[in-house]
Amino acid sequence: PGALVVVATPIGNLSDLAPRAVEELTRADLVCCEDTRRTGGLLSHAGVGGATLRRVDAHTEAAAAAEVVARIAAGERVALVTDAGTPGVSDPGARLVAAVVDAGLPVTAVPGPVAAVAALVLSGFATDRFAVDGFLPRKGAERSARLAALAAEHRTVVLYEAPGRVARTLADLAGACGPERRVAVARELTKLHEEVWRAPLGEAVDRLGGTEVRGEVVLVLEGAGGETTGGDDADVRAALRAARARG
Ligand code: SAM
Repeated sequence: PGALVVVATPIGNLSDLAPRAVEELTRADLVCCEDTRRTGGLLSHAGVGGATLRRVDAHTEAAAAAEVVARIAAGERVALVTDAGTPGVSDPGARLVAAVVDAGLPVTAVPGPVAAVAALVLSGFATDRFAVDGFLPRKGAERSARLAALAAEHRTVVLYEAPGRVARTLADLAGACGPERRVAVARELTKLHEEVWRAPLGEAVDRLGGTEVRGEVVLVLEGAGGETTGGDDADVRAALRAARARG
């Protein structure tokens, strides 16, 4: 039967491609993707031959939606992938899903890698309530307003950032949230050089000293009030932190 299938793909480690993702990509009549070369490479790695790829990026998503809806209505199975991770999460996809939902047609998902969730669970911060804020606005009043909102946010917040902008964003976060607020910097997740370090924002900025963090990075900002882990004893954690600070 016709359906849109939202398929998560690896964020670095190709072994993270789920068997069911391979099944759906093999079965699909059409695979919508951001970059046909990149997805073509993934498909050949997975042994999926003969797929029809169609480029759908942030600019062409609305136009593609009509065609995708028509194909699904005609009984076709359309898979949606992006360059990495889960479509629709700081990536194209939400509009396509909305169009299919509006048309009353089936949508299903093959869940899998999301950089935000991997970074969240590695942060050591509270995971019982969290927000994924995606990319901060790049400048101006919008950026200041978002930074001010983060300063007051009690939930753990996950931020994506483009390579080359991480140092700047950490400095702005320190300015808005204060140097004590903690951050986890998750780099190259699932890849050979995966690394996660945690520090108060002030120390994070000092540690970088203006140099840029290499590779792909997710920032996880501890909530205001530092409710580090849900259900944990805050006093115990504060004592541990103080002991660690004393060395
Ligand atoms: N849809 C993707 C997902 O599900 O995670 C996110 C796409 S967004 C355009 C790209 C951003 O995700 C990068 O700038 C970086 O912040 C983050 N990212 C993607 N892969 C990563 C990885 N392996 N390690 C750390 N961050 C990653």
